[in-house]
Amino acid sequence: MAQQVHIAMVPLSAPGHFIPMVDMAKLLAQHGATVTLITTPQIASRFAPAIDRVTQGESGLSICVRHIRFPSQEAGLPEGCETVDALPYTDMMKNLLVALAMLQEPFEELFESIKPKPSFLIADMYLSWVAETARKFKVPRIIFDGTSCFNMLCSHNLSTSGVHEDLGDSEPFLVPGLPHKIEFTKAQLPKTLNPTSKESKEFCDRVSEAAAEAYGEVINSFEELEPRYIQEIKRVKGDKVWCIGPLSLCNKDNTDKAHRGNKSSIDEHKCLSWLDEQEPGSVVYACLGSISRLSLPQLMELGSALEASKYPFVWVVRGGEITDEIWKWMEEDGFQERTKGRGLVIRGWAPQVLILSHPSVGAFLTHCGWNSTLEGVSAGLPMVTWPIFAEQFLNEKLAVEVLEIGVSVGAQVAVNLGDEEKFGVVVKREEIRGAVEKVMEKGVEGEKRRQRAKGLKEMAKRAMEKEGSSYLNMELLIEDARKQ
Ligand code: UDP
Repeated sequence: MAQQVHIAMVPLSAPGHFIPMVDMAKLLAQHGATVTLITTPQIASRFAPAIDRVTQGESGLSICVRHIRFPSQEAGLPEGCETVDALPYTDMMKNLLVALAMLQEPFEELFESIKPKPSFLIADMYLSWVAETARKFKVPRIIFDGTSCFNMLCSHNLSTSGVHEDLGDSEPFLVPGLPHKIEFTKAQLPKTLNPTSKESKEFCDRVSEAAAEAYGEVINSFEELEPRYIQEIKRVKGDKVWCIGPLSLCNKDNTDKAHRGNKSSIDEHKCLSWLDEQEPGSVVYACLGSISRLSLPQLMELGSALEASKYPFVWVVRGGEITDEIWKWMEEDGFQERTKGRGLVIRGWAPQVLILSHPSVGAFLTHCGWNSTLEGVSAGLPMVTWPIFAEQFLNEKLAVEVLEIGVSVGAQVAVNLGDEEKFGVVVKREEIRGAVEKVMEKGVEGEKRRQRAKGLKEMAKRAMEKEGSSYLNMELLIEDARKQ
């Protein structure tokens, strides 16, 4: 029997990064590896039910979770506040970054004690200090950026060409060297390409320097989704690049799907029976990710658009400063009464992958975070795209212009965390409603979009099955680890 491979993993403290990494741990273990996941207690508690199920159940996967203390107090954060979505105020982001930098020492102390020594250390790309740790312990480091090949290539071509640098914020420009004609404005770019302060530029520089010396990279995508982009990425980065997704597809049954990333704020059975009562393909699922925040007037526009579109909907309203106010609006304005039976509002955390896989859902209104985009693709759903910040505008282009499965609500500028009040309403209810109706309509265009989305779902499924491209890439990755 082949010798067992041991892989250590260290995720970042944002749901969009640790959720796919936990899925990746499960997949690695399903492919025969032993995995040690190293993280802080709050994050570990969020994925404990998912890990317990696969380690203690019949499958008996070999995944061990080791904790390092999170320095809340030293970094000026409230006790237990270890993730981006748990920050009470957006300006605490800088404290979180301070805390993350402080993890290096305890991480190294723990890493030294791990036996047998791991063959690979898979680390989130934004934890740039892991580069030094990997050097110190002479273990090859594989980075995980949590994004698509399309985004990686756009970002690479923009940062090497600098075509956008001297332009005004709203001047459109073409991304050079892409297989498709893709246009952006500087106001839509992520901070990594358009840093807004000296600190953020320094942070991004550290991340790219560390990324450049990594042994390889794992990507949550599949080759058939973006073949020309993965080909180009391999040309730029070399062969140690493995597309092993969609990672969310490792969650096969409803319990796995429901216990992903956090405890759901709604009972999963209640959610499923509500969906069971709706017509097939009739429901719009609206969720703008785990960390984005909308201003109160913008939330009201979204609610009003969902109401006006006349389709049944599930609307996820994140917890946070203004949840009470939007709740009050729903009651006092009569929204709740008027949409009774037709609208299900989830206040907090939704079992997203469970909902997306229900046959009653017909469209996904998404902020185009990469996980959500890929989860929508894996569920075979057409999308209403509403990017807010980070690389979301890039993902929107992939969904709308390359894959042709999305309709944009027409957001023009990135609204970074903390700037929501300054921008107020950036997308009006008529625009949201228009995009929802276009995606849901039964005409030829809508039907073609739905067919394309269904085709991608089949491709995604095949990629993860035995002998599929992502399955084989996972085997190659483990084989590479075995040779270390
Ligand atoms: N998610 C979820 N329930 C929620 C909100 C988000 O399960 O109520 C999950 C979602 O399925 C995805 C992740 O959180 O896996 C969000 O990652 P994404 O890259 O889409 O966006 P981000 O939150 O990083 O902006």
